Amino acid sequence: MLRDLDYSIVQQCMHCGMCLPTCPTYAETLMESSSPRGRIAMMRAIADDRLDVSQAFAEEMYFCLGCLACQTACPAGVDYAELIETARAEVERRGVLDTPKRNMIRSLLLRRLFTSRRNLHRLGRLLRLYQRSGLERLVRVLGLLRLAPRSLRELEPLSPRISPRFTHELFASDYARKNPEKSTYRVALLSGCIADICFAHVNSDTIEVLQANGCEVLLPATQQCCGSLHGHNGEVELARQLARENLDAFAAETGGLDHLDAILVNAGGCGSHVKHYDRLLAGDAVYAECAHSWSRKAKDIHEWLAEIGVRPARPAVAPHDEPLRVTYHESCHLKHGQKISDAPRAILAAIPGVEMIELMEADWCCGSAGVYNITQPEMSMRLLDRKVGHIIDTGAVVIASGNPGCTVQIEHGLRQRGYTARVEHPVSLLAAAYRAESPKE
Ligand code: SF4
Ligand code: SF4
Repeated sequence: MLRDLDYSIVQQCMHCGMCLPTCPTYAETLMESSSPRGRIAMMRAIADDRLDVSQAFAEEMYFCLGCLACQTACPAGVDYAELIETARAEVERRGVLDTPKRNMIRSLLLRRLFTSRRNLHRLGRLLRLYQRSGLERLVRVLGLLRLAPRSLRELEPLSPRISPRFTHELFASDYARKNPEKSTYRVALLSGCIADICFAHVNSDTIEVLQANGCEVLLPATQQCCGSLHGHNGEVELARQLARENLDAFAAETGGLDHLDAILVNAGGCGSHVKHYDRLLAGDAVYAECAHSWSRKAKDIHEWLAEIGVRPARPAVAPHDEPLRVTYHESCHLKHGQKISDAPRAILAAIPGVEMIELMEADWCCGSAGVYNITQPEMSMRLLDRKVGHIIDTGAVVIASGNPGCTVQIEHGLRQRGYTARVEHPVSLLAAAYRAESPKE
């Protein structure tokens, strides 16, 4: 509850307004209530009992992207991440946005689907069959989507492709036995929920790059979704439950967290969340200590590779005549949530033939923001349009991005504008460069 939150967090804001120019929703609306300062003022009024948790307050809390650009800009060190998560949890507790339809969707997604890896895999297999059997094409050709509810129609172009094989299948068949015999580091990888079934290639590229950099990689099979979706959407108890399940899975399947050098995450949004398992479970007598060890070891993949000194790729056997024009979009939770900005660029610099072109407003939210593109489609598409315009100005043929949500969103924006370019994880680009490199002399 906002009233229970440490009052020093609620009153940190000194109303200076330095965050305003960095806030995408304020820039688009010029409304004080849609700015970080305005939102914090409302939260404080609730904590002080001067304002009720109304529908208008609730809608404003969900109109915020949670991009945390305000947190980076704030000279007073306001912990906006904690404030917005607490405010949304309060909105859910009071039920001011409850409708039968909303409750049903939240229950299905947050309680049934994203708390169970088994259910996610089942759905993934069904969707893969739909996408690959020709049924999807038939539905599109016959225009059957017109018969679907509006929300489903809007979701369809944003639905990612399901991977031919999920991460654990790829790991078991192709990577587990390739761990270096004499490894310098021992690490475990969080494979994610959507990433596990839709971006399995990014996970396998990550494993490949780690193995090429002297790491033994473990992939705990009983791991679950990291819980960031739940934490960011007011379901703190579910986020705690998933954190506990992951602590158990990683400890049991790696011989204990003490035997790991790092727990690695390749998605900006998930990394930002799992680094705070210690805060999430601080009041848990059983798990607090383990969560503390976890948070000390949790690292973003770029951060880790920079820390151990990533091996640059050697020139390719058959190099391209033209340099590869690459630009980099910063995921909000990588840049603002984790303060990681140089490391992904260092990885791109380790790839021969890459010509880096800086993107204007590289750290401005693309409008993906978890499920924001579903819950707030209009604002999301405005931000996407702004992002894609800047991308087109660079003339890049590859957009590097370290978060699956941004990848799906930007790919959608590029398709809409008819601009031909691909969106890749920096680690995937490095993995491809390793595969193409000339033999050692
Ligand atoms: S999190 Fe992003 S959208 Fe929300 S107030 Fe901060 S800058 Fe604005
Ligand atoms: S920059 Fe920080 S202190 Fe200043 S108004 Fe924004 S949140 Fe408050």
